[in-house]
Amino acid sequence: MIKRFISCGLLILIIAFSVSCEQKKDNKSFSKTYYNYFDTVITIKAYNIDKNSFNSVCDLLESELLEKYNQLFDIYNNYKGVNNIKTINDNAGIKKIQVDEELTDFLDCCKKMYNVTKGNVNICLGSVLSVWHKYRDEGKKVPEKSKLEKANSFTDINNLVINKKNNTVYLRQKGCNIDVGAIAKGYVTDKINSYLIAHSVTSAVVNFGGNILTVGKKPYGDDFSVGIANPKDNRKNIITLKCSNGLIVSTSGDYERYYEVNGKKYCHIISPITLFPPDRNKSVTVISNCGYLADVMSTALFILNYDDGLDLVNKTDDCEACIVDSSMKVYYSYGFKEFIK
Ligand code: ADP
Ligand code: MG
Repeated sequence: MIKRFISCGLLILIIAFSVSCEQKKDNKSFSKTYYNYFDTVITIKAYNIDKNSFNSVCDLLESELLEKYNQLFDIYNNYKGVNNIKTINDNAGIKKIQVDEELTDFLDCCKKMYNVTKGNVNICLGSVLSVWHKYRDEGKKVPEKSKLEKANSFTDINNLVINKKNNTVYLRQKGCNIDVGAIAKGYVTDKINSYLIAHSVTSAVVNFGGNILTVGKKPYGDDFSVGIANPKDNRKNIITLKCSNGLIVSTSGDYERYYEVNGKKYCHIISPITLFPPDRNKSVTVISNCGYLADVMSTALFILNYDDGLDLVNKTDDCEACIVDSSMKVYYSYGFKEFIK
C-alpha cells in the first residue's frame, strides 16, 4: 500500500499560494535523450527551467551519474581503473574484489530485493539468463531443459558475499554470475530523481527504458499523465495514470523483448522455478515512490500468478500494481485505482 499524508490547513495554504505563482510561469519544456547508457534509451523532459540551466544539468547528470553507474553495473565491458560487475563475474570462485561503495550498496539492495520478491528476482540467475540470451540472439531454438538445469546449479543467492565494511564482493562459486537487468534501471532512476531535485529541477518526467519517473508536478500544478501500453497494441494505452512528486511507474511486459520459435513467443523474463519465460501475464505495472522496488516488483509479478502477485504487493509498503493476464483480464492491488486518471 502507498501511504498518503493528510495535509494540514497551513500546508494547503502554501500549496494554494505556490500554485498561483506557478500559473505565471509558462508551460515550455526542454528534452534531452541519452542513447549510450544501460543498453536503453533515457529521456528527460523538464518544465519551469531555462534552456541554459537545463543543458548544464543534463551535461552534469551524464558525467557525474549516468557514466559512473553505467560503468559500475556493466556486465559486458571492462573500464580502465574500474572494478565493476564484470570484474566480479570474471573472478567468481577465484577471489574477492575491492569495489566502489556505490556498488556494494547496490548489490546489497539487490540481495534485499531477492527476499522482498520471495526469490523471484534473483540477480545470481545470470548463468541461466545467459543461456536464454544466446538462444534469443540466434533466434532459432529454445534451450534444452537439461542445459538450463545445469546452469541453474550456479544460481544460489548465497554465492554472493558482500562485505560492506571493507567494500569487497565475492562470488564464491565458479560459474555463478550476476545479471542486474531486472533492477538497475529502477535503482538509477532513484538516483536521477535525487540529482534533479538537488539541481533545482522542479517539474520533469524521466523515461528510463520504460521506468517513468515524475519529478514535482506539471507547471500549472496538475499531475502528470502516464499511459500504460495495451500489450496487444503498444501504440495505444489501456489505462492512463495520474502521477507526481517522485512516483515511479515501472512496466514489465512480454510484447517488446521476445523471440519466436514455432509460433510461440519467448520473452526476456525467466521464472527461477521453471527456468522458462512465464506465460501467465502479458504485462504488469507497478507504482511506487521507490524506483528499484517498482522495477523488481514488476518483474516478480510478471512471473507469479495474479493471486500470489496481488497478495505480495498488498503486503508490501509503498507499492501498487495492475496485472494484465494472458486473457487480457485486468487485476488491481487495493490502492491502484486511486492513481487512474
Ligand atoms: P525490462 O528490462 O525490459 O524493463 P524487467 O525490468 O522485467 O524488464 O527486467 C528483465 C531483465 O531482467 C531481463 O532482461 C534479464 O536481464 C533479467 N531477468 C529476467 N528474469 C529474471 C529473474 N527471474 N531474476 C532476475 N533477473 C531477471
Ligand atoms: Mg524490472
